[in-house]
Amino acid sequence: MTGGRRPSAAAADPGRGWRLGVFGWPVAHSRSPAMHTAALESLGLGHWRYGALPVPPERIDAALAALAESGFAGANVTIPHKHHALRAADVLTPAAAEIGAANTLTVLGDGTLEADNTDAPGLIDVLGEPAAGRTALVLGAGGSARACVWALREAGCSRVAVWNRTTARATELADDLGVDAVTDAFAADLLVNCTSVGLHDPAETFDLLPVAPAGLADHRVVVDLVYRSGGTPLLHAAEAAGTRTVDGLAILVAQGARSLERWTGRPAPRDVMDAAVRRD
Ligand code: NAP
Repeated sequence: MTGGRRPSAAAADPGRGWRLGVFGWPVAHSRSPAMHTAALESLGLGHWRYGALPVPPERIDAALAALAESGFAGANVTIPHKHHALRAADVLTPAAAEIGAANTLTVLGDGTLEADNTDAPGLIDVLGEPAAGRTALVLGAGGSARACVWALREAGCSRVAVWNRTTARATELADDLGVDAVTDAFAADLLVNCTSVGLHDPAETFDLLPVAPAGLADHRVVVDLVYRSGGTPLLHAAEAAGTRTVDGLAILVAQGARSLERWTGRPAPRDVMDAAVRRD
């Protein structure tokens, strides 16, 4: 079922010691606990708690079903649980329903659970310019690519195209969301890397993606969802080519800020959150 926005349970009763967290498997590497803890303190909600919640796939349905009765205001959900989050919810936002995955669960005032996808609008928040009328090339066909394609399409891009190593997955995603699948890169205004390339072996980046460092000058903005200490080769090359860049930490902050606003009903302290995720 899809529905409009009803207030969260926690927004109506902020004095209570609400629990929050990020479900994943593994999740120890997540910067979300540091980011949200800093934000909660800044909002005067230091009595709320946000933690890493490592739960294996075979236990996630039970964990999510018990969320409301366990004192949670809501939760973030990351790999590999984003589909389970959708199934656990009573109410889906249009973004979660159409993307087919959720990263934010919110307990509503009547104890029901809402699933939303804040990864998608998070990308649009940090683009730094309107997406309407622009062309976009998304690299990858996994969960984050799906959210980004949906967001760019909804934001009014004149063309959204998907490239993926496994071509059949690009075609499937493109067909699902009514965009184009491509087998080569082109000079799109917006280039968005949603593959995991650059995360583990940065030196291989330009062997694995259909773009070359010099060609990055042809884009207005290059976005890399991957983040790592010292930055990624894709963004370093884009900066060297004179192209504006958006890094994965900015997107992490944007999606987290939207989740926090949903739970608390208050504007998120984005500067505080940005500083927290960039602290080593
Ligand atoms: P996913 O669903 O596992 O998808 C992975 C994608 O990477 C697939 O398209 C896969 O292609 C591609 N890929 C993997 N290895 C590759 C290689 N060697 N060469 C070419 N393509 C390769 O993952 P996801 O959830 O979409 O996340 C993708 C990346 O974005 C991850 O690094 C994740 O950490 C990051 N991310 C960041 C944020 C943020 O807030 N900044 C949010 C979400 C995700 P195939 O289909 O061919 O396997």
